[in-house]
Amino acid sequence: MKMKSHTRREFIKATALAAAGVSFAGPLVSRIRAAEPDRKIGFALAGLGNLSTHQLAPALQKTKYCRLTGIVTGHPAKAERWKAQYHIPDKNVYNYDNMVTMADNPDIDVVYVVTPNALHGEHSIKAAKAGKHVLCEKPMEVSVEKCQQIIDACKRAGRQLAIGYRLHFEPNNLECVRLAREKVFGDLRMVEAGFGYAIGDPTQWRLKRDLAGGGPLMDVGIYALQAARYLSGEEPVLVSAIETKTDPVKFKEVEETITWQMKFPGGMVAHCDTTYAFNGLNHFTGHAPGGWFRLDPAFSYHGLHGQRSDKLEINLPDLDQFAAEMDDFAQCLLNHRPTRVPGEEGLRDVKIMMAIYEAARTGKTVSLA
Ligand code: NAD
Repeated sequence: MKMKSHTRREFIKATALAAAGVSFAGPLVSRIRAAEPDRKIGFALAGLGNLSTHQLAPALQKTKYCRLTGIVTGHPAKAERWKAQYHIPDKNVYNYDNMVTMADNPDIDVVYVVTPNALHGEHSIKAAKAGKHVLCEKPMEVSVEKCQQIIDACKRAGRQLAIGYRLHFEPNNLECVRLAREKVFGDLRMVEAGFGYAIGDPTQWRLKRDLAGGGPLMDVGIYALQAARYLSGEEPVLVSAIETKTDPVKFKEVEETITWQMKFPGGMVAHCDTTYAFNGLNHFTGHAPGGWFRLDPAFSYHGLHGQRSDKLEINLPDLDQFAAEMDDFAQCLLNHRPTRVPGEEGLRDVKIMMAIYEAARTGKTVSLA
């Protein structure tokens, strides 16, 4: 049986995901908004790789409140292709060295940082210094210190910072948050969550510690961690972990597979897994005394669906998660409200992932309390 439909707004309202924070919507946007009420927020994509090419640029065409006005790239040939495809004028094309000169370009309000993980700090801070709002991809950075530097730079510049947590805008995930928050099956006692895939090209940056910061945990395990956090509505206080490696050549610099457990203050436990060794791991289940709910697939771009122990299906209509995420950020800027996915949310995940690595390395339970 298909579940009765709820509006997206109801799901968003039902969640307690909205994080605390101050609105940093800048005076530039508000002045322009007053003068031109129909003006869309101008986005520049920094890093024109897979995500930007196949998801973000197409998603920007579907947004209501955003438009693609600029690019930052180190490849002149790529810039030519993007300029032609998206009608981007020369004056809105930057490289990583000159992006601070965006300061005098009113076409660009937001820089969306989509470069390898360990470059997010450098590029986000340059964008903030240019007076731009920052949307930074996950994982926010590869250390807690670097995350804090991004937060500080955006605060200093008086600009808002959001992290690209697209599932905070996805109806099926939000429905599961509602089931948890409204205790439809009682208090959650356990979450099981896993996300992984078989990684290809052994030369790619995702397998290099200095650019990726870690392996599948930083890349996709972060979604399982997020699920445990947004379903519990709490922060973990204890972490334990085990790592295993079957291909020490390919995974010389990063983990291949890692499994971890987390204890939450209300008594819930989470069991999570991530891997670069095989496909098919893409799910979460919430268990409570009165029943369970599950999404599988839980973290893909499309086709998310699931079941409940009372035989109802969870199968809400797809939306473009990236368009929803960018439109929400644009509305935050236009309406002077804080994002529900602020830098502090990205920092919390990085802090927990560092504890997971420490637990795996030492074989000891790590306290986060
Ligand atoms: P990618 O390798 O396809 O693209 C990375 C881009 O960064 C390339 O255009 C590359 O030229 C550029 N770059 C700049 N400096 C570089 C350097 N020193 N070394 C290597 N590349 C450099 O990667 P991607 O899959 O687009 O991922 C980019 C970011 O987006 C990552 O942080 C990743 O975690 C994140 N991401 C998020 C999602 C999501 O669902 N939210 C999905 C995929 C990727």
